[in-house]
Amino acid sequence: MKGKMKAAWLRGLRNFQIVEVDMPRIKSNQVLVKVSKIGICGSDRGMWDEHHFFNELYKWEDFEPGEHGHESVGRVVEVGKDVKGIKEGDQVVRLNLYDSMDLKMANFAEYAVSDCCIPCNGANPDVMCFTDPVMVALNHIHHANLSPGDTAVVMGQGLLGLIVTQLLIHNHVDVIATDVSQKRLNFAQGFGAKVYHANDPDMVKKIKELATNIQAVIECSGSDEAIDSACHLLSRGGSIVVMGATRTRITFNYTQLRIKGASVKFPMNRVNHKDNWLTAARLLMRGEIEVKSFIDKRDKIENIQWVLEHYDDEWIRVILDVGDSY
Ligand SMILES: [Zn+2]
Repeated sequence: MKGKMKAAWLRGLRNFQIVEVDMPRIKSNQVLVKVSKIGICGSDRGMWDEHHFFNELYKWEDFEPGEHGHESVGRVVEVGKDVKGIKEGDQVVRLNLYDSMDLKMANFAEYAVSDCCIPCNGANPDVMCFTDPVMVALNHIHHANLSPGDTAVVMGQGLLGLIVTQLLIHNHVDVIATDVSQKRLNFAQGFGAKVYHANDPDMVKKIKELATNIQAVIECSGSDEAIDSACHLLSRGGSIVVMGATRTRITFNYTQLRIKGASVKFPMNRVNHKDNWLTAARLLMRGEIEVKSFIDKRDKIENIQWVLEHYDDEWIRVILDVGDSY
């Protein structure tokens, strides 16, 4: 399609600008999606204020307008001649399947090109924006190697932690959830987790009194204290799965990990895990996982800079309107 579109352009530290650019052109194996909704991920915030490890890998000047954001839903407006199974008018979730750690996903724009997407006609677009984080949670749970009846600690009940907590409880794993926010702990408790406040200096002691065999700790908080607690909480032969690490250096308690023969895993998301994307989309389409109550704020994409400047740490998810809603 020819013409112009609006896009949010991350020009540097804490600096999104709205610009007008040419519409993207599709290749024969691609579709053009008119984006309707997009979530602001913790990684988008982290890259905006330069505390994410991605900032060490990518330079601002490499990014074009619209080339951030990865949690979008939209409607197909043009279909390449070699594309099968997708037609004009389909509502779709755009997948970010990339082998090369290419972050140029181009979702913070009115229109976006896609090589691969999942149709989700009739589903609530707000809900389908959570497909990416649910996929990430599924990938990390897979690496925790848990079975029904096992006990896991989920540290940090931000969006990912709350999704991991729910999915583990659905899989009959006993979950101990920690966070510094009572609001988030209340959500986790509502899903069936036992909850502990991470500011309690006796938290580790209390959890160890409750659970003698913790097979996995899934770290979703991004805090150094949580990593240290994870090393102490884990039982022999268990695994720590790190998903909350946004920084470039993390310190582990070697003694604790060594005497326990522990494994530490850093699963990389998205790289050709289409199965997890399909599972995530289906869980959301069937309403088998609660996400709607995590939306604390809605705004327009034009206001992305304002939203990031005024971001409240108690917010769990912000959804931006990009185009016409359905
Ligand atoms: Zn994300």
